[in-house]
Amino acid sequence: MKILLVEDEARLATAVRRVLNDEGYATDWSADGADGLSRASSGEYDVVLLDVMLPSYDGYEIARRLRRDGATVPILMLTARDGIQDRVRGLDAGADDYLVKPFALAELLARVRALSRRAKMGAAAETQILTVGDLELDIPAREARRGSRRIELTAREFALLETLMRHPGQVMSRSQLLDSVWSYDSTTESNVVDIYIHYLRNKIDRGFDRKLIRTARGMGYAIRAD
Ligand code: CA
Repeated sequence: MKILLVEDEARLATAVRRVLNDEGYATDWSADGADGLSRASSGEYDVVLLDVMLPSYDGYEIARRLRRDGATVPILMLTARDGIQDRVRGLDAGADDYLVKPFALAELLARVRALSRRAKMGAAAETQILTVGDLELDIPAREARRGSRRIELTAREFALLETLMRHPGQVMSRSQLLDSVWSYDSTTESNVVDIYIHYLRNKIDRGFDRKLIRTARGMGYAIRAD
């Protein structure tokens, strides 16, 4: 496991690297945005930890360029501000997760573990049957089931559910869902996502005690079993 840390605060970088190294991760450190981007593009890292405010390119720009160029490396943004806009901006730029400074190093470790686990699962080829709790989505057969109940979905509902289920537990912004399911420009303001989430809830959560589709107020939606 090799981690790239792009962070211009030397003291924080030192502390983060120390705790990662203690956990057995190899780390490289870059204190500059352009340098960080070129290293992150190399494909040799399992996770990239990305500060937002950096010399030359900022973290959003780095994430955006990496995703534009097709890099799939998990990105954890380290943001100084806790505003919803800042978080959504990071996720929209292509970050997988974010952590607000100041953060506990134990929490950083937990996020890194989760991201690397997810990356490994992704690398084990695209799973053909997705499950979240008792909900099962059979991609080749285009079938959805909750427990023993078969669920009929339209093509669009299926695509939306598949997108959520490929990122279990992860809040996906409306823009991410629009991009992924409708291929709209992410700047398009539309409540189509909310409408389809409503349809999906009627089909997969109604009548069940345990609701799977969660609303992250002001941020987006996630699917989660616990
Ligand atoms: Ca900084």
